Amino acid sequence: MTDLNPYRPPNAPLDHASPEAVPATCPKCGATSATKVSFNWWGGALGPRLFSVVKCNQCKTQYNGKTGGKLTKIIVAYQVIAIVVFGTLFYYLRTL
Ligand SMILES: [Zn+2]
Repeated sequence: MTDLNPYRPPNAPLDHASPEAVPATCPKCGATSATKVSFNWWGGALGPRLFSVVKCNQCKTQYNGKTGGKLTKIIVAYQVIAIVVFGTLFYYLRTL
């Protein structure tokens, strides 16, 4: 029997890259060396992990280490989700 598992979803090309793989090129200066971010102002300790945020070693820009994309949209979406979640939570706590 091979490692064929019917319950396992098919691998996307991205899944082959390990988390320790070389991060994508910096969208600002094109550098290939970047450090993983474990905490930042908009995502706390969770956001950077969710979106594989890395920081460029040259220009200190933070970007998505998997896709090399900028974080602007992610930050906005993350803030909106956080506000909705906390707003809902706060609303329910008040009704108790
Ligand atoms: Zn850079």
